[in-house]
Amino acid sequence: MQTPARESAGSSVEDGGDLIAAAWESIRANLRRDCGARTFDGWLRPIALGGFDADSGALRLQLPSQFMADWVQTHFAERLALAWKAQLPQVRQIRIGVGPAAPRTAAAVEIPASPEETRPEPKGIYSVALEPRYRFENFVVGKANEVAFSAAQTLATADKVAFNPLFIHGGTGRGKTHLLHAIGHEFHRVRPRAKIIYMSAEKFTVEFLAALRANETFKFKQQLRSADLLMIDDVQFIAGKESTQEEFFHTMNEIISAGRRFVISSDRAPQDLDGLEPRILSRLSWGLVADINAADLELRLNIITKKLESLPEVKVPGDVVMFLAKRISSNVRELEGALNRIAAYAAMQNRAIDLDFVGEVLANILRANQRRISIDEIQTRVSDHYRIRKAEMTSARRAREVARPRQVAMYLSKQLTPRSLPEIGRRFGGRDHTTVIHAVKQIEKLRAQDAELDADIRLLTRQLES
Ligand code: ADP
Ligand code: MG
Repeated sequence: MQTPARESAGSSVEDGGDLIAAAWESIRANLRRDCGARTFDGWLRPIALGGFDADSGALRLQLPSQFMADWVQTHFAERLALAWKAQLPQVRQIRIGVGPAAPRTAAAVEIPASPEETRPEPKGIYSVALEPRYRFENFVVGKANEVAFSAAQTLATADKVAFNPLFIHGGTGRGKTHLLHAIGHEFHRVRPRAKIIYMSAEKFTVEFLAALRANETFKFKQQLRSADLLMIDDVQFIAGKESTQEEFFHTMNEIISAGRRFVISSDRAPQDLDGLEPRILSRLSWGLVADINAADLELRLNIITKKLESLPEVKVPGDVVMFLAKRISSNVRELEGALNRIAAYAAMQNRAIDLDFVGEVLANILRANQRRISIDEIQTRVSDHYRIRKAEMTSARRAREVARPRQVAMYLSKQLTPRSLPEIGRRFGGRDHTTVIHAVKQIEKLRAQDAELDADIRLLTRQLES
């Protein structure tokens, strides 16, 4: 005679949990093989096992947000149910919902003693995996980021905002993602029931293409439209990908028209995004475009100080703090990385943190930050290389023999210096930033076809970097 499911689950919680966890392991492995790593990592890996109700045979699967739960429900509910039936017949139905998605180990799977475990669905939907550290309180404000910061705060808290979308742009490691997450946390705090969606543009693209293949773009859009706050990070990833780009900006329009808030981040200004249509550009300019500049010395000092507050066991003398702020100027991420490295090495080697120690531990980072290439140097090198007068770099002459080297120099300036496109344009005889964009694209294209040009650029890059 078969043991009724209820008894087996009731008699040993551990055994039931192990059984379910083992089945889940094998189901996951199959799903990963069948769906591909991307879909699996994006949607299926975050699924956590919830409780199992032996009476009804219902197993709860939990995702970190309603949006993800809906998506998995639509795309995988049937498949998951079938897989469970095949692996473990006691599981007769699955319930997909929102819950903590911490991956549970076999031993941690709970089989509730009583069947009424099903928790009420949370009303407010907290977004996909917001980083707890990325809050406004932890964001240090300075000249470089004050506009973006206050716009972000306004967007998160105000009842009505005069601008929508908010477009935050700036180079890597300057705090864009931090601000987006902070907006999410704050919006949630003020409106606990609001639906928040945060996703990278890369994820947007993957999801959109998957929906397209499955003929479910409508549903996909509906889910996005249902958000009170939608945030898309690193939108430069979408630019240039025609179908996704169009879809993205359509969705953006709909969300804005519906009075929902929209935040976008990008590593460059809207006008520098690849192939963005003029009507989209103008739509973006109805909103607020705020940039984050490179942190100046004062801001870098404040960031170090703030960061050290959270590391009370790490004693860093003032001269070291100043040294770091002065020498690590590339971006905040690198500054943080340097501090973490110092803290880790000091603890490991049980050494006092002084200038010698820091010089040793950070040798590589310091070297990388030292190499400051100027536009002037680039212009000198390039005109030498092509044997033209340096004055041609800023002249208006358009003859091929000077125009091409000039383009190469603009291209290298973009690649090797942190200067913005308008700045580069100015340094090349007051040219417009669109001329610089054109030069960069032109050289990128030519490099791919012309081995000689490619070799020139490699050589020049090496010379400039050494
Ligand atoms: P981005 O998205 O612009 O590349 P991030 O938001 O990922 O940059 O920031 C990189 C790291 O630097 C993060 O750990 C972030 O918390 C930190 N950071 C950046 N700017 C600031 C700031 N103004 N105050 C405190 N931390 C910052
Ligand atoms: Mg980022």
